[in-house]
Amino acid sequence: MSQIPLVDLKAQYQAIKPDIDAAVARVIANTAFIGGKEVSNFEAAFAEFQRTKRCVGVASGTGALFLALKGLGIGPGDEVISTTHTFIATVEPIETVGATPVLVDIDPVSYNIDPNEVEAKITPRTKAIMPVHLYGQIANMDAIMDVARRHNLRVIEDAAQAHGAELHGQRAGAWGDIACFSFYPGKNLGAYGDGGAVCTNDDVLADKIAKLRDHGRTSKYSHDEIGYGERLDGIQAAILGAKLPHLDGWNDARRQHARFYDEALADAPGIHTPVAAADSRHIYHIYCIRVDGDRDGILKQLQARGVGAGIHYPIPMHLQPALSHLGHSQGDFPQAESAADSIISLPMYPELTGAQLEEIVVTLREVMGAG
Ligand SMILES: *Cc1c(COP(=O)(O)O)cnc(C)c1O
Repeated sequence: MSQIPLVDLKAQYQAIKPDIDAAVARVIANTAFIGGKEVSNFEAAFAEFQRTKRCVGVASGTGALFLALKGLGIGPGDEVISTTHTFIATVEPIETVGATPVLVDIDPVSYNIDPNEVEAKITPRTKAIMPVHLYGQIANMDAIMDVARRHNLRVIEDAAQAHGAELHGQRAGAWGDIACFSFYPGKNLGAYGDGGAVCTNDDVLADKIAKLRDHGRTSKYSHDEIGYGERLDGIQAAILGAKLPHLDGWNDARRQHARFYDEALADAPGIHTPVAAADSRHIYHIYCIRVDGDRDGILKQLQARGVGAGIHYPIPMHLQPALSHLGHSQGDFPQAESAADSIISLPMYPELTGAQLEEIVVTLREVMGAG
């Protein structure tokens, strides 16, 4: 029985090994470990890829969200509205800057923040909305931007799972004030360590974040405000630069695999495949299905038969012990709770083969008793 992992970083490295090895060797030969040309070249290339005016490379996706909040002047006394169905790194930076996260439920079809729920949570303290483009699908930005404009709120896009995703032909960073990316190794564009970036059309904000990431520096030993150690390093930038030309193709491969799953599972009883919004380019960071019945049992059987399935995410933010001070309890966000209890992520990465996809589908149908 072969093992099919959820994500296969080795397969990708094997496919582009000479380029990656050369990029790393070049940085070491130049001892350009922090800042420098590798970082600025990658920033220019990624800004072009996301079609924003500016990109500032930072140390992680979490750092990108933190610096976006800092850059927009959000802090103690402010409220930021975000989704309960996400990875905790969406919410942590809101706490880190001293603001209060205000969680809302999701739209059960897209799993993204429900714009109708956002408006009800706006108070005089609300400063920003932080939608997450979850699983690689841009959130309902038409509705979110409409709410934001009417209430004069900032919008910070958590685009950690959405490099190259589109809605109405526009990529993350075109909608809100700023989009925040993670280059965690398993993301659609992944470094070989930690990395992140912000993309924005706002020059003032980009300059501010570029200063904050590097100790508030104006020159080597002159600092005009307290900043942070949140720089992207040269080796990661060089690796990301070598990978970026492949990214649209890799995203296309993911979309093709998703179509295969969609079609092969369309008539399978008890399985609900994901739905991409009209006029959108979902880039399937995660291919998330819902199952009827005993989800945990189904997941265990899949794993026992060699299919590396997972759950993203099993516990919504409002039920996390770390966020118990927000005062939520079971039942507060029924759509997110229902999703958390019924979702399964199937293996998804560009290098998945036809034979692997077949095996996953056959195994899943057997487990579900569909034959
Ligand atoms: C990965 C991720 C982050 C955090 O990125 P790191 O680079 O790991 O700090 C934030 N938000 C979401 C939705 C993510 O998936």
